[in-house]
Amino acid sequence: MENTKFSYAIIGGGLSGLQLALAFHENPFFKEKKIVILEPNEKKANDKTWCYWEKGKGKWDHLNAYQWHKGEVISKDNEQINLAMNGYVYKMVKSIDFYSYAKEKLKTNPNIFWIQEACEKVDQQKHLFKIKTPKKQIEAEYVFDSRIEKEALENKKYPAVSQHFKGWIIETKVAAFQEDVFRMMDFRLGHGKDCCFTYVLPFSKTEALIEFTFFNHKLETNESYDELIKEYIKRYLKIDSYTVKETEGGVIPMSSYPFHKANASNYIKIGTAGGWVKSSSGYSFKRTTEKVAQLVENIMAGRDLRHQLIKSKYLIYDRLFLSVLDRHNDLGNEVFMGMYLNNSAELIFDFLDEKTNFLQEVGIMNTFNKPLFIKAILKEYF
Ligand SMILES: Cc1cc2nc3c(=O)[nH]c(=O)nc-3n(C[C@H](O)[C@H](O)[C@H](O)COP(=O)(O)OP(=O)(O)OC[C@H]3O[C@@H](n4cnc5c(N)ncnc54)[C@H](O)[C@@H]3O)c2cc1C
Repeated sequence: MENTKFSYAIIGGGLSGLQLALAFHENPFFKEKKIVILEPNEKKANDKTWCYWEKGKGKWDHLNAYQWHKGEVISKDNEQINLAMNGYVYKMVKSIDFYSYAKEKLKTNPNIFWIQEACEKVDQQKHLFKIKTPKKQIEAEYVFDSRIEKEALENKKYPAVSQHFKGWIIETKVAAFQEDVFRMMDFRLGHGKDCCFTYVLPFSKTEALIEFTFFNHKLETNESYDELIKEYIKRYLKIDSYTVKETEGGVIPMSSYPFHKANASNYIKIGTAGGWVKSSSGYSFKRTTEKVAQLVENIMAGRDLRHQLIKSKYLIYDRLFLSVLDRHNDLGNEVFMGMYLNNSAELIFDFLDEKTNFLQEVGIMNTFNKPLFIKAILKEYF
C-alpha cells in the first residue's frame, strides 16, 4: 500500500530541510516516526558554497572543503585590519558535498521517504495537515516548510536589502594568493554610492574565489559583475594571466520581515522562509544547525515547536542595521568598516551568532555612527 500518512513532512530538501532530516535520522527518538521529504529538484549540482565561522571542531568538519584560521578586512583607503579570530575558524562546505552526504545517509533509513515533486498546497484540518503535490495527496502531523512566502519578498513595510553577488574561481600559473588568509571584505573597489565589497577565498597559492557583493536594492547585469571582478583582479590582486574555472552567483534576501509569524505549534517555516538567514549578514549555515537542534529538543520535550526558536532582542538589532542600509546605502561601507575597526572579529562573530550579553551589545552599538542609528530607532519604533 502506498504511504500517505506521516508524522513529519519536510517541504524542501535544501540546506534546512536536509539538516532537519539528518537530525531526525541520527536521533533514536525518531526511529519509529515516518518522515517524508518533498523536493522537486534532484540536488545533483553544486549550486552554492556555504561558509561559516566556528570555534574548534564542528559537526560538519568532515564536509569542509577548506578552512582558514586568519582573515582580513581592507578599507577603501587601503587600511588593512587583521581579524583577531581568537580561535574562530572560517570554514567552507560545497553544497554538492552536503547534498550527496545527506542523500547517502537518509536512504539507509526505511522510515524516511522522498517525493520528488513540488508541494502545491498545505491545508490544516484539525490536527492533521493535508499536503498536495501534482500527483499525490498526503497527510502529516507536523510540517516543516521551506517555501518562501511571496508576501515576504514583496514586503515594503519592513527594511530590506538584497545581498547579490557573482564570483569567479580563477587559476593562475604562478603563485598569487596567500592561501591561509581569507579576505572577508575589501572596500577598495567601489561602485558609485552602493554598499559593496570584494570577498576573496584562496584555495591554494594558485587558485581562489573572487566575489563581488552588493548589499542594496538593485540587481546588476552579469556583465557588470564580470567587469568589477576583472578590474579587482587586475588592479588589486595585480594578476594579468589567469583562467576562470567556475562562476557562481546568487541573491540572498536580507529582510526584517517577521518570517516567524507564520509558525504555529505544529507548523514551522524553516530556512530562509523561516527567517533563519541572519538578516543583517546573509549567513545561515551554522544558524540552521542550531535552529534544527532547538526544534528537535522541542519535539522531544513535547513543547510548542516555536519555543526559543527566535531571539527577539536580535530581531531589533537586525532591523536597525537593515534600516540604515535600506535608507542610507551610501553609508553602508563606512558602517561595516567602523564595526571591524573598533571591535575584535571574535566579538563581531559572537554578536552575529546572537551569543553576546547586553554590555557587549552596548559596546558594539557605541562604535556605530550614533546619529544614524538613533534616526533608525526613531524611524522604526516611533
Ligand atoms: C549562492 C548563495 C550562496 C550562499 N552562501 C552562503 C554562505 O556562504 N554561508 C551561509 O551561511 N549562507 C549562505 N547562503 C544563504 C543560505 O545559507 C542559503 O540560501 C541556504 O541554502 C538556505 O537554506 P534553505 O533551506 O532555506 O533553502 P535552500 O537550500 O534553497 O532549499 C530550499 C529547497 O526547497 C525546494 N523547494 C522550493 N519550492 C518547493 C516546493 N513548492 N515544494 C517542495 N520543495 C520546494 C527547493 O528546490 C530547494 O531545494 C547563500 C545563499 C546563496 C543563494
